[in-house]
Order: sequence, then C-alpha cells, then structure tokens
Amino acid sequence: MIVKLGPCRLELVQGDITQQHVDAIVNAANSRLAGGGGVDGAIHQAGGPEILRETAAKYPEGCATGNAVVSTAGNLPARFIFHAVGPIWKGGRQGEPEQLASACRACLFHAIEHHCDSIAFPAISAGAYGYPLDLAANNLIKTTMDFVRWHQKPALVRFVLFDQGTWGAFARAVEEVVPR
Ligand code: ADP
Repeated sequence: MIVKLGPCRLELVQGDITQQHVDAIVNAANSRLAGGGGVDGAIHQAGGPEILRETAAKYPEGCATGNAVVSTAGNLPARFIFHAVGPIWKGGRQGEPEQLASACRACLFHAIEHHCDSIAFPAISAGAYGYPLDLAANNLIKTTMDFVRWHQKPALVRFVLFDQGTWGAFARAVEEVVPR
C-alpha cells in the first residue's frame, strides 16, 4: 500500500526490516540497549556485533522510553539504525500512547537531522511489549502522517510489517487516518 502525502510517500510492506534498502531503519529496542528477541534480535544478528559495541560505548546509560538513539548499521544495507524504545503496555493509562508517539517522532527527527530521505519502521511495541496491535498501528500511522504533513520530510516512510495480520492492522489504520 502506498499513500502520497504532498512530496512524501508512506508505504506499508510485509517483510523483514533487516533487508530494507533505505537510509535508516528503526529498531524496537529496550531501554538498556541490550539486544533481545523479536526485531531487535533480527537486527543485531544480521547487522553484526559492532552495533551493540557502538551503542554500549555511545549510550552507556541506555535510552529512555519514548526516545531513540542513533548508531551505524554494521552489515545492513541501511546507513543508520535508530534504536527506539517504545513503552511496555500496562493498560494504556500510564502514558503509553504519548511514549509510543514520542519514540516515533524521535526517529523522524533523527532522519531529518541525519539527512535521511528514507526510513523504515517496524511495529514498535506491538510484539513482546504487548501494545494492542490496532492501537499501536493507529498511533504510529497518525504520528507519522502528522509529522510528514508538517515537515514535508522524509521523502519515504516505509512500515515493514512482519506478518499479514500486522500489515492488515496498519492498512486499516491508514484507511482511518488518511482522508480520501
Ligand atoms: P517490542 O518489544 O517493541 O514489542 P518486538 O520485536 O517484540 O518489539 O515486536 C515488534 C514487531 O516487530 C512485531 O510485530 C514483530 O512481529 C515484528 N518483527 C519481528 N522481527 C521482525 C523483522 N525482522 N522485521 C520486521 N518486523 C519484525
């Protein structure tokens, strides 16, 4: 699915984020930047051990929930990895929506600051962190569209969804948010 937003494009694809030829990919990291399972494990496995060495050296205190930090991308085709820390779902009344939106925005600001024309996101928080899929999809799509409308960049934002159910949730979110 492709949506034009002025000079920018929003894409939803089903696939593996480690395979994306974009300027930056986003990792769904934990606040210790310690690596883990899910998309985090896949990125470190494909990108190599240099990424963890770099984040440990640059960010010894980790990264707060709702923020994102930058590293190079090791063996991956991307130039950068933005390690975003989404919230763990605790029922939705403990700031989770704001934290998820703020992690997403932090990545989009990093993209602009590092002159990235293209960025790929996974479904941050919607796996092990338990954020309800439809709510996470709505939040990430709305946050991205608001950002892109305001800043008119980055030129390409691609959501890379691992399975069909996740892709479907994001497609529904786009239908809800984009005026047609
Ligand atoms: P979190 O801990 O933030 O919930 P997870 O990695 O557990 O992060 O899950 C986030 C999403 O990433 C889930 O939808 C999961 O299916 C998906 N995912 C796992 N591996 C990959 C991958 N290689 N590329 C893209 N998405 C992936």
